Amino acid sequence: MSTSARPPSVDRLARAVSAATGLPHAVSVDLARRAIAGGATAEAGVVADAVAWRRQLLGPVINATGVLLHTNLGRAPLAAHHAARPTNVELDLVTGQRGSRQRGVGSLLASLCAAEAAMVVNNNAAAVLLAVAALAARREVLVSRGESVEIGGAFRVPEVIEQSGATLVDVGTTNRTRLADYRRAISRAGADVAVVLKVHPSNYRVDGFVESTTVADLSTLPVPVIADLGSGLIDANCPWLSGPPPAWLAGEPAVRQSIDEGAALVTFSGDKLFGGPQAGIIAGRAEFVQRCAAHPLARALRPGVHVLAALQDVALAYLGRTVVGEVPFWRMAAAPLSEVRARAERLGERTGGAVVESEAVPGAGSAPGAVIPSAAAAFDGDLLAALREGATPVIGRVRDGRTLLDLRSVDPADDEALTAAVQHVTGGR
Ligand SMILES: *Cc1c(COP(=O)(O)O)cnc(C)c1O
Repeated sequence: MSTSARPPSVDRLARAVSAATGLPHAVSVDLARRAIAGGATAEAGVVADAVAWRRQLLGPVINATGVLLHTNLGRAPLAAHHAARPTNVELDLVTGQRGSRQRGVGSLLASLCAAEAAMVVNNNAAAVLLAVAALAARREVLVSRGESVEIGGAFRVPEVIEQSGATLVDVGTTNRTRLADYRRAISRAGADVAVVLKVHPSNYRVDGFVESTTVADLSTLPVPVIADLGSGLIDANCPWLSGPPPAWLAGEPAVRQSIDEGAALVTFSGDKLFGGPQAGIIAGRAEFVQRCAAHPLARALRPGVHVLAALQDVALAYLGRTVVGEVPFWRMAAAPLSEVRARAERLGERTGGAVVESEAVPGAGSAPGAVIPSAAAAFDGDLLAALREGATPVIGRVRDGRTLLDLRSVDPADDEALTAAVQHVTGGR
C-alpha cells in the first residue's frame, strides 16, 4: 500500500475554485483536473492559480498610462449601447428586399471622407489586403523601400501584399524615393503595374536625408494610388474641434486631404484617431470600392452588426459636429490641460500623491513623437502590480522610480473608482 499523499478530490477542489472565482462549475472542474494531473496537492495553490487564470478574462480597466489609444487596452474606448434586438442590417426597409450591410454606414463614411464610396471590413490590415487583392492580384504593386514597413502587431507590408496574390515591386531607397523612381518602375521592360501603394509609416520616423513622394505627385502617374493612412484622421483641419488643429497632429496625413489630392482609395483603422470600434475603412472612387466589395475576400472580412452600428454612431457624431461630446478619444484628447490638472490635484489630495506635469501620447502608432500636455498624480515606488490587482484594475506607468497615473487617458466618470483603487493600495495616505 502506498503511503504517499492521495491527490485531492476533483470535486472538492472544483468547489473551492468556484467559490473563490465565481467561475462556472464545469470550468472549475477542468482547472482542478489539470492541476491534479500537473501534480498539485495543495488546495490553496490551486485556488491561487485559478484566481490568476480568471484574470485573463475580459473586463474593464482604468487606463492611467497617458497613452490615449492603448493597443493592449483595446485602443479607442467606446460605449456599446445597442439593445439585444434585430437590426435591419441586410434588409432594405423601403422595398422589403435583401439589402447591403455596407450601404448605410458606407454612404455616411463616404460623405464624411468626401469620397464617392466607402466600405467597412474588420480592421485596417484587412482593408489593405482586400484593396490590393481587388485591384492588383496577379499583377504588380509599387511600394517605396521607405514604406515597406512593419507596423505593430505584425502588419508587414511585404507579407500582406504576398497574401493578396499581387507582386511587390520595391521602388527607390530606404530614405529617398522620388516620383521619377515610380515612373521608371512603371515603364521598365515587362512591367505590369496595377497600383501604387503608399503606406504611412505610422509608428516610426526617419529623420535627416529623407525624401518621399506626396499623394498629389503620385496621382499624376498612370496607375491608381492606394494610400494606407493607418490612423484615420478624417480632416487635417479638425472642424469638429472648437479651435485650430492641435499641434500634436502636425504632419499626420488625413483622409479628406488624401482623397482630394487624388488617392484612388484610402484605407484606415476605425479604432485609432477616428475614435471608433475596431474596423478597417476603405474609401475612394466608386469603381474601386465596388471591386473591393465584389471580391470573394470581402465576405470573409465583413464586419458584424455591432461594429457597423458603432461606426454609424461615430460617423454621425462627426457629421453632426458632436465628436468631442460623444467620441471618448476626442473628449480625452481635447480636454483643456487646466481640467486634467485639476483632476490630478484632486486625486493627489485624496491619496497622498504629488501632482506632476506629464506628456500623454495619442498611441496606437498614430502621430509618432507627438505629445499632448497632461498632468499625473505621482507616488513613490512601483505600485503597478498592486494597482492591477484591484476589482477594477488600474494601469499606470513607472518613471524614475515613481508610479505615474496620468489623468488625460482616464474617463472623468472613473475618477471616483480610480481614487478608491489608489487609496486601497496606498492605505489612503
Ligand atoms: C495601424 C495600421 C495598420 C493596421 O491597422 P489595424 O486596424 O490594426 O489592422 C495598417 N497600416 C497602417 C499605416 C497603420 O497605421
